[in-house]
Amino acid sequence: MSNDLKRIECDPKCGFVVQSHDEKEVLDIARKHAKEKHDMNATDQQLKGMMKSA
Ligand SMILES: [Zn+2]
Repeated sequence: MSNDLKRIECDPKCGFVVQSHDEKEVLDIARKHAKEKHDMNATDQQLKGMMKSA
């Protein structure tokens, strides 16, 4: 377990940001966001590529 704060930022035009200490939660929320707002099926691998430690 890590206490790093994980963060995913969507396109700046979108402005969506999710951050949590729980990596799984960040991935779940970001995946839902991509699906609902962008009609995109993002994989964990893609999302992890966008993830930063905040
Ligand atoms: Zn977005």
